Amino acid sequence: MCLHAFAGEPVLNNPEDSVALKNEGHRVDKKLYIGHKKEDVLMVNHINLFVDSIRCTLHDSMPYHDWVTDDIHFRKYDFSKIQDTLHLTLNDSSDHFTPPFRGEITSEFGRRSWRYHYGIDIDLNKGDSVRVAFTGKVRVSTYSKTYGNVVVVRHDNGLETLYAHLSKRLVDVDSVINTGTIIGLGGNTGRSYGSHLHFEVRYFDEPLDPRDVIAFEDFSTHKDVLSISQCNFTYKDELKVMGAIKYHRVKSGNTLSYIAVKYGTTISTLCRLNGISRTSILQIGQRLRVR
Ligand SMILES: [Zn+2]
Repeated sequence: MCLHAFAGEPVLNNPEDSVALKNEGHRVDKKLYIGHKKEDVLMVNHINLFVDSIRCTLHDSMPYHDWVTDDIHFRKYDFSKIQDTLHLTLNDSSDHFTPPFRGEITSEFGRRSWRYHYGIDIDLNKGDSVRVAFTGKVRVSTYSKTYGNVVVVRHDNGLETLYAHLSKRLVDVDSVINTGTIIGLGGNTGRSYGSHLHFEVRYFDEPLDPRDVIAFEDFSTHKDVLSISQCNFTYKDELKVMGAIKYHRVKSGNTLSYIAVKYGTTISTLCRLNGISRTSILQIGQRLRVR
């Protein structure tokens, strides 16, 4: 349970936010995005104001903001410190959730040793039909080294869903498709070991745990409305810890003392971090955690 969420109206506690509201409806202005830049990423403080600011600065509707068809991820925003809650409609008279594929969940969203798994894996057989979860427009349909055959669909509420490792893609970029449309066939392409569907849910390219949206026990949405707050992004704390972790790939001639000196650490720390002893023999190509 996240204890840091504040539902309801956003609080204006930053002078820049007030300026932003006065500018509403006019030219595209960075300040309208209600946040501050941190390297190349914009920290968003109030997600409702952020979404409103994008709506009012574009002629097109919000779901088509940043319509990039040749880049799966364009990472620009950080919602981990938002102070309010945004409500997105999932099911109503115009749209509803369709399970992409009803199969056993074989891997969860979260940390996978040294990398992060931003989706959920659903077991299937090659050739099984994979369906789009909601009505939307195909933003990406391509082949990538990691995702294999992959389709990304932007939905009317601004959510995106991603379907990877397909054996075949059956939809083209810019196609508008109804919920339940078969977007491809299950497979084992890209960085995949055994046929499965890698399924992601993102909002402005910020990954959400698909389980925040979908109850995979019965393949339905938890609610008809999805509430997005900083609770959905607490996994970023884990990412920060992971970012602080560093590894060394053992090369010919490397010794523990050489590696310890190179990274300004000690042999005993290396032994503790890697569960090895001072007399352990290092293998070329072995990955050693050094921080
Ligand atoms: Zn996966």
